[in-house]
Amino acid sequence: MIDTADQKMRLATSERGVWKDAGAEPDSLFSPNADSEVDLLFLPPNLDVELLRHALLNQRPLLVVNFLAASGFAFLAYADLGAAVLGWLALMAVLTCVRWAAARALHRAIVRGQPTAGWSDAAARRVFQAGYFVSPMAWAAMAVWAIPFLKPFGLIALIVILAALVGGGTGVLAPLRHLGQVNMFLLLVPGSFRLLSLDPPQWTLAALGVIFAGVAMISHRFNNDLLRRALTLKHRNDILLERLSDANAAILKANADLESKVEARTVQLREISVRDMLTGQLNRRGLVELLRRVDSENTALAVLFIDLDGFKQINDGLGHEAGDAVLVAVAKRLAGAAPDDAHLGRWGGDEFVLVWSGFSGSDEELRRHGERLRDCLASPIDVGLERVQLGATIGYAHGASTGAALIAAADMATADAKRKGRGQIVGFEPGLMRVQQRRLQIVGGLRTAMEEQSVWLAYQPIVDARSHAVLSAEALMRWTSPRLGAVPPDEFIAIAEDSDRIRQLGDWALRRALADFVAAGSAAPPQVSINVSIRQLVWDGYDVAVMQALEDYRVPPSRLTLEVTESVFEGRSSQRTLSVLRTLAELGVHIHLDDFGAGYSSLGSLQSFPLHAIKIDRSFILKLDFEARSVVEAAVLIARGHRLHVVAEGVETAEQARILHELGVDALQGYYFGRPQPGLSGVAHPRPQ
Ligand code: C2E
Ligand code: MG
Ligand code: MG
Repeated sequence: MIDTADQKMRLATSERGVWKDAGAEPDSLFSPNADSEVDLLFLPPNLDVELLRHALLNQRPLLVVNFLAASGFAFLAYADLGAAVLGWLALMAVLTCVRWAAARALHRAIVRGQPTAGWSDAAARRVFQAGYFVSPMAWAAMAVWAIPFLKPFGLIALIVILAALVGGGTGVLAPLRHLGQVNMFLLLVPGSFRLLSLDPPQWTLAALGVIFAGVAMISHRFNNDLLRRALTLKHRNDILLERLSDANAAILKANADLESKVEARTVQLREISVRDMLTGQLNRRGLVELLRRVDSENTALAVLFIDLDGFKQINDGLGHEAGDAVLVAVAKRLAGAAPDDAHLGRWGGDEFVLVWSGFSGSDEELRRHGERLRDCLASPIDVGLERVQLGATIGYAHGASTGAALIAAADMATADAKRKGRGQIVGFEPGLMRVQQRRLQIVGGLRTAMEEQSVWLAYQPIVDARSHAVLSAEALMRWTSPRLGAVPPDEFIAIAEDSDRIRQLGDWALRRALADFVAAGSAAPPQVSINVSIRQLVWDGYDVAVMQALEDYRVPPSRLTLEVTESVFEGRSSQRTLSVLRTLAELGVHIHLDDFGAGYSSLGSLQSFPLHAIKIDRSFILKLDFEARSVVEAAVLIARGHRLHVVAEGVETAEQARILHELGVDALQGYYFGRPQPGLSGVAHPRPQ
């Protein structure tokens, strides 16, 4: 293939060179045309050898024809010339044999590339070459000698034979430029001149002989040119074909290279697409594909679903970079603690999944592995200058029909574990399916609960511990779902918190309570209390929403109590919560810390939060044994230290009310004083003392 200007130039040059060369006579038939100025690339480097090869191919028929012609002449001229012609024929026979042998040797050497037996290469060449002089010389000698003795018939026979040999030579001798011409010249010209010595001189015949010889030599030269050109073109064609096939091979190779690169890149991309960029573990897609593959192999399988505890706080508190570093460290630890034949993947966020194909052990065994995974995260992780600690809640499942079902089961188990508390390890059991279904029904039901007006508020009085005068009424949300019936608030509020539905429900409860409070008029207690979830507090503008509601219903802020839980102290959200609560407290809204003692209160935070009271969790009040009593005493002590009031909830008996009063509790709430009931008006008249 000619692909550059330079090569095109070379081709043009060589084209001119071919014509020039074809016209030029190579003096040496056998020496290569090495010092030619033309572009050697497009000239056959072995043109002479090629020509020789063609000459050799023609040689045998030529010798046969030559000898037959000599025999024919001897036969026809015998009557005129007598035995001398037989001697000549014998000489021709010997000559033919020698030429035959030389041609054969050369043919072996050049055409077949075999060693020549008995002949040296050079000798064979010399004899072969000499044959083209000697043989026509023999004819010329015979003609010159015989012409005066020949009768017209013999003379015509001689002229016809020589003319035929010359005519045939124009083609057969075409490969041999000089030798062919010499051959023709010798065959015809001396004889023609000899015709002039006859009496009378045969001018016409002689002239015809010389002209015929000239025409034949020109024709021979033309044939020689043609042959050279044909060979050159063939050579060029071969080169071009060779280049074409080289180029083809190069293209094929380039294609193959490209294909293998594309293949490698595809594998890379696939690998990337199934890997989590951060941790290097499988991502969700990789896990799903893995599960699908394991499904198709019909292998026993177990899945552990690992949900990190406290990661959100780290991420929020120290920033995403620190969060990323923690995730990398966690992935490394989990991968190190995982069984060899298990695959770890990041399901998303702070959730990891361990897929254990080939697992056919027991629940207990899985649980132990879950513990190992949880425990490997127990030691602190250093992130820059910080040292953080987190835990994991783990759900596991095995033996389900498909990988996807197993993931769903392990996920359900994790959700259940989280409900049970941080750090729990819970295995899937069919009952969880019902739990999950119920959760889904509740989530669905809550979506339309407010439009259907199936949520409502019950109020429960909070009374002064000494006088039992009603101080406040706590609004407690109720939901009587048209499909599920009455759903306990503990159940639907937790679900509403998970799905963020709590925001609308909370806003609604605030406004409903204020509306009821206003509507109750003089029958209303001094205050109305509402419960606020941490999820509401962390939203931007909660304080504004409360102020707006107070303004809308013209309720003085001091008549509203917000009950918040200990979760307000947790994590970085505490900063935002703190500022919201401070704003509201400064306005005059009371803030009570609900369920005190049930969680892990950060006592130090009590000081920084603008609280009015702590509300001791009802679990301490309901039993009120020695231990619970000391908790109440401690709570009272702490509250006094922080100049806070103390409320006790869950008071069911007069005895409990008395003890709590004696212990220094300021306010009481419980069935003893009144159950949660619809409407505010009944709240103002609790059980008389
Ligand atoms: P909480 O704020 O601690 O409410 C007090 C819970 O104690 C209420 O349960 C009440 O019915 C119950 N209780 C009161 N006195 C007694 C008693 O003498 N004995 C017993 N055994 N229980 C008593 P309830 O109504 O089931 O509410 C459960 C929780 O749901 C509430 O606990 C509160 O955390 C949450 N909640 C209720 N309404 C709302 C709301 O509007 N918003 C938010 N965010 N949470 C709410
Ligand atoms: Mg409460
Ligand atoms: Mg409570």
